[in-house]
Amino acid sequence: MADEVRNVIIIGSGPAGYTAGLYSARALLEPLMFAGYMSGGQLMLTSDIENFPGYPEGIGGPEMMIQLREQAEKFGLEVQDKNVERVDFSTKPFRIWVEGEEFRSKSVIICTGAESIWLGAEGEEEQKGRGISTCATCDGAFFREQEVLVIGGGDSAMEEATFLTRFASKVTLLHRRDVFRASKVMYERALNNPKIEIRTFRTVKSWLSDESGLSGAILEDPRDGSTEEISCTGAFIAIGHKPITNFLDGQVQTDDSGYILAKIHTMTSVDGVFAAGDVVDTRYRQAITAAGMGCQAAIDAEKWLEEQH
Ligand code: NAP
Repeated sequence: MADEVRNVIIIGSGPAGYTAGLYSARALLEPLMFAGYMSGGQLMLTSDIENFPGYPEGIGGPEMMIQLREQAEKFGLEVQDKNVERVDFSTKPFRIWVEGEEFRSKSVIICTGAESIWLGAEGEEEQKGRGISTCATCDGAFFREQEVLVIGGGDSAMEEATFLTRFASKVTLLHRRDVFRASKVMYERALNNPKIEIRTFRTVKSWLSDESGLSGAILEDPRDGSTEEISCTGAFIAIGHKPITNFLDGQVQTDDSGYILAKIHTMTSVDGVFAAGDVVDTRYRQAITAAGMGCQAAIDAEKWLEEQH
């Protein structure tokens, strides 16, 4: 068991985590962050961020995460690119296990964010990584001059479809109804792109494959159950995300979907455990709002630590 007891341990990176790290480091709390094996969170998979104030030309997601990390480290944030395996919030100081090693901390800020949801259609498991992906930024370049599908009707789907036109010869965007959650500007950018065809009232019933990987899909019209076949060699699922809270093993109160519930400001149901970013946020889910919540959580943790004296 580690003898040292930290003031703050931040679990997860991304805009919420790095901002919490920046603020708590500047408050001289000597924070320790477990950034995860894939540090930086979902923005590491985002091409261009055009709506974060202060970047008139936009900025790449990974570039922004590297800069946020550098800024926080400059003020003393200690970062380990490791995953937290489990926690024990029933005792104080709190206990956290990382690669079998135990760490202890007076307070914890959870910023683990969310991960992509898969469709779960027939044949999907077999084709993951062989044509079906949830990340156009990561895998788009494999589909040069090929026909690909994008599934979803939100900003992620519009962004993925537009990005994929850099490589693919044709992008067919499938949405299960004719109303889009996507912001108007992103929807219209996709709609007006000559390489993108948007088809509404279409869901994927099953995936088709041949010896070289994905070859198409059977689509269904949810209004009448009619089906048709479409050919494609790539497919990108962009139907939303689910919060990463499994490692908490129910020790912090969440809603039915697993999103952490805030009790007082950013404090969770456990006194001294705070949460920020997409792991709590069912509504805004933006880089700027996550960063703002990271700041709030760090200030809340600092005030809470002061009150303990
Ligand atoms: P989202 O807004 O929740 O949209 C998910 C989409 O997937 C919806 O159109 C939904 O259809 C569809 N869907 C869900 N389950 C499905 C299923 N089983 N089968 C078929 N379709 C399904 O998620 P998101 O697009 O990932 O966006 C999440 C948040 O991130 C939003 O706040 C968004 O603004 C933000 N974001 C911003 C940017 C940006 O500004 N650059 C980029 C990406 C994301 P229904 O509408 O029928 O439910």
